[in-house]
Amino acid sequence: MKWRVEDTEERAEFRAGFRDFLGSVLPAGWMAAIDAGDEDAFEAAREAAQWNPLAWTGTLGATGFAAPLWPREYGGLSGETWMQQVIREELRHYRLPLIGINLLGVGLAGPTIIEHGTEAQKERYLKPILSGGEIWCQLFSEPGSGSDLASLSTRAVRDGDEWVVNGQKVWTTIAQFAKWGMLVARTDPEVPKHEGLTYFICDMHAPGVEVRPLKQLTGTAEFNEVYLSDVRIPDERRLGDVGDGWRVARTTLMNERATLAGLSLDPASIMGGARKDPWQSFLADIPHTSDPVVRQQVAQFYIEQEVKEITAFRASSARLSGAAPGPEGSVNKVFNAEYNQRRTEFAVTAGGPGAVAWAPEDNAAEARAHSFLRARAGTIEGGTSEILRNQIAERVLGLPRDVEVDKGQPWSEILRN
Ligand SMILES: Cc1cc2nc3c(=O)[nH]c(=O)nc-3n(C[C@H](O)[C@H](O)[C@H](O)COP(=O)(O)OP(=O)(O)OC[C@H]3O[C@@H](n4cnc5c(N)ncnc54)[C@H](O)[C@@H]3O)c2cc1C
Repeated sequence: MKWRVEDTEERAEFRAGFRDFLGSVLPAGWMAAIDAGDEDAFEAAREAAQWNPLAWTGTLGATGFAAPLWPREYGGLSGETWMQQVIREELRHYRLPLIGINLLGVGLAGPTIIEHGTEAQKERYLKPILSGGEIWCQLFSEPGSGSDLASLSTRAVRDGDEWVVNGQKVWTTIAQFAKWGMLVARTDPEVPKHEGLTYFICDMHAPGVEVRPLKQLTGTAEFNEVYLSDVRIPDERRLGDVGDGWRVARTTLMNERATLAGLSLDPASIMGGARKDPWQSFLADIPHTSDPVVRQQVAQFYIEQEVKEITAFRASSARLSGAAPGPEGSVNKVFNAEYNQRRTEFAVTAGGPGAVAWAPEDNAAEARAHSFLRARAGTIEGGTSEILRNQIAERVLGLPRDVEVDKGQPWSEILRN
């Protein structure tokens, strides 16, 4: 790790404790191989370990290190932001997944329940998130509502102690594995769009929930369409007050950005950690590195990578000293996503014909093509680059706000696609 704030005594002690923990659960040779920069030894340790991402989620979850900011009684460390930063630095250094398969549970649902849930809800839902026993997904986006999420149409109508939900969600990552969904639905269509929403915890195995995988251009089905037909949700699974769903959803969205900041959203690295130093694997993909034009482009990518790391370093040093996440998060998300697209495209172009047609056993070529195709999603997921640019323009540069043509109008009267 090139850019890192000097540890205080307290941080050094915490870091050493976390390393001791890693040493006690990782296979022999794993950490030593990375510290020595010995790729072959690392690969051997990893192969021998038969890496299991689900088991890793449980291992980390049992210690409090998976969610250091959560209260101790719900499985966290009642800790401070710098602890999360130190843990992330160490996990990244030792090429371990930063969160694991329950990314949305730990990063989004947990903090939302902690802030808005009743005591009974905290007791019921938080610990199984950390153990990996109950996977969560996010039922927010709809075919007609993504960036303008508050315009969503899924309806929830009260029926005694239950709510009856009808509608369609889309792009629901890992819904096929999820036990629970964070659901935002419209409970009052006659008030302005932000005011008529309510937030529910939806049982993904309840009658009327249908999950249909969507195949992406990478060939995998990371996300799904979810159809909700007369799904009954007990009122005790409502999170926050009726009509207060937008405020609850904003907690989820703020945590989404904080969770995703600096993460590669490639499921392989979320669940399995990085097999190689990303810069080294990029270089390994580039043939003809003696060509001066290729060299010049590689140098340009290196410069941009440094700028990216320095910006991330500034953000992390601000967080270590207790500052709330600032605009660097949005700037980094935009830059990272676009940089990844350009870099993976360059790798494919430099690879020549072998980058688009390869022998079945050529795993490196397949991984290169996969990265190129997966990078397309980076500028859409977790807020599009255009929306983030709007936010930077408004909140950082102080430019006028984006036009809101439907402000104050009841949802039932606004134009929707
Ligand atoms: C890989 C992946 C995983 C996802 N996982 C989930 C998930 O688990 N749960 C979930 O709920 N959602 C998920 N999403 C959905 C994601 O949040 C939305 O795709 C995103 O918010 C954009 O919404 P949209 O696709 O409806 O596009 P739209 O909002 O329709 O946007 C279309 C285009 O118009 C632009 N645009 C829209 N409004 C403005 C504006 N005001 N100013 C300038 N430009 C604008 C956008 O930037 C975009 O280029 C995922 C998406 C991806 C790609």
